Amino acid sequence: MCGIVGYIGKRNATPIIVEGLKRLEYRGYDSAGLAINKDGKLHIYKAVGKITDLERSLPEPNVTFSNIGIGHTRWATHGKPNKTNAHPHTGQYGKIALVHNGIIENYKQLRQKLTTEGHQFNTETDTEVLAHLVEYFIEKEQDFTSGVQKALKLVEGTFGIAVIHTDYPENIVAARKGSPLILGIGNEEFFITSDVAAIIIHTKKVIYLKDGEVVNLNHEKFEITTLDNEAVKAKISEVDWDVSSIEKGDYEHFMLKEIYEQVTSVENAFRGRLMNKLSTARLGGLNITGNELRKVKKIQIIGCGTSWHAALIGKNMIESLARIPVEVEYASEYRYRNPIIPEDTLVFVISQSGETADTLAALREAQARGAKVLGITNVVGSTIARESDGGVYIHAGAEIGVASTKAFTSQVTVLCLLALILGRMKHLSAQYGIKFLKEIKRIPQKIEKVLNLNEEIERIAATIKDSKNALYLGRGMHYPVALEGALKLKEISYIHAEGYPAAEMKHGPIALIDEKMPVVAIALKDAIYDKIISNLQEVKARNGHIIAIATEGDENIKDLAEHVIYIPETMDIFQPLLSVVPLQLLAYHVAHLRGFNVDQPRNLAKSVTVE
Ligand code: GLU
Repeated sequence: MCGIVGYIGKRNATPIIVEGLKRLEYRGYDSAGLAINKDGKLHIYKAVGKITDLERSLPEPNVTFSNIGIGHTRWATHGKPNKTNAHPHTGQYGKIALVHNGIIENYKQLRQKLTTEGHQFNTETDTEVLAHLVEYFIEKEQDFTSGVQKALKLVEGTFGIAVIHTDYPENIVAARKGSPLILGIGNEEFFITSDVAAIIIHTKKVIYLKDGEVVNLNHEKFEITTLDNEAVKAKISEVDWDVSSIEKGDYEHFMLKEIYEQVTSVENAFRGRLMNKLSTARLGGLNITGNELRKVKKIQIIGCGTSWHAALIGKNMIESLARIPVEVEYASEYRYRNPIIPEDTLVFVISQSGETADTLAALREAQARGAKVLGITNVVGSTIARESDGGVYIHAGAEIGVASTKAFTSQVTVLCLLALILGRMKHLSAQYGIKFLKEIKRIPQKIEKVLNLNEEIERIAATIKDSKNALYLGRGMHYPVALEGALKLKEISYIHAEGYPAAEMKHGPIALIDEKMPVVAIALKDAIYDKIISNLQEVKARNGHIIAIATEGDENIKDLAEHVIYIPETMDIFQPLLSVVPLQLLAYHVAHLRGFNVDQPRNLAKSVTVE
């Protein structure tokens, strides 16, 4: 998690870093800090809380004017989120300032070793130990880069770091392993960042550093090496995100903007991928031949959080359209068990950022066991995108709100396409393919129709905003949507919510139902409609407060539910793309009405790059 921004060039680094950090605040917002190198001295500023708190605490611009600096927004892993523990951290001799994203797993051993050499530590963080170690080796090596290289070779864990040093006032050294780090190339200026969002107003030319790479920059040039000091020739990429995608525009929150963007983001996920002639779809980057795909006997889909929910929907779709058994796994569990990957199993990993630490580790685990692993990610050039054997970009554009919305629907859209492709390779009829292709093109308009219900949903949100608990029910493909709806409510409104397969309710949660318990039910017209209606009867009999997501024209459901949110009819496979939208809006409005920071919910950060 956490965000790093570094600048070196001819301009004043401070406002560039502060503005950049604001763009990265979604990655962590426990504390923020900045270090500049000015007149041979380090100046460090820190504040608890948001970047605006840091900004307010800064002295006059002329005091903080410098052409070189590094900044950090923290998501604490080691030590409380107070000012002392805020980054940048310094070493024993006061010569370096270091910002860090990740976890130093052997920090205790390193700290002990350094303590015996007389080092004193002032914070509870793992990062301070790293700062001491790095400074120690720079002193020993009498060289900035090789000091960093030597120190990092002793480190276990993950890091993205940026360092400045008083003896090298014109250089920044940065390095990564397991945490993302990007070098931005401007005109006689360079940037270091954890995410391109921080720098795309300045440059779109970037190099995605790889694990174990170290870069030394001054304002004229950069040099990339490995930890063993071998020179690296890196590829310069062009970022295709638009600046407007990282601005809120007229919306009050990024989350709301991103919910509305689903009209186009879903379309972007299927655009150019439909093959009308063959009544199927094409996912170019899969890097797998038709014959290989036909041989697949089993699929595993691995993810965390919202991506895991998308995976569950994918399982449903693939099993129903292609009749290939699918297992869905939590990445964090997968990597620490002894997973069985039978022959002819195809593994998919899903991660919006492409940097999720557990998902990346699961990818590596599956690859180490000989499986072909394909990635479904949003961020071009991310570690998962690079390390997987092939994959699909969801093309959702920058997602800044911590609670994922458009990335989810784009992931589901890609999984729909995958189910169609696999199905058409087996026994799915061309007629079905034609119907599918026709209907998927209508989904964006149908999402737009659901978005028109925003005000109505806001009114419903007001009726449940003071609830302590909420239950989300769905069956079949709607069960993972219920899970996703409950997760949205939990993460931004802090109301305890659970998603349940509707019929399972009888085996426990029904005990919770009383007149105070909102029950959000996805009760769409499909093959199991009657079943969920029976479940809702059971809720109503216990005075539950039912909010139903129903298919347009379903009048009967009004007898059961206090509130009905009607969504347009569509093929079963596309229903999650529509039914999740009111749930996103419901969570958004509840959180907003409760007065919480929707885009930056407490304790969370967007891209979970630590275990
Ligand atoms: N482990 C470091 C800390 O707790 C960095 C965490 C982060 O990635 O924000 O300060």
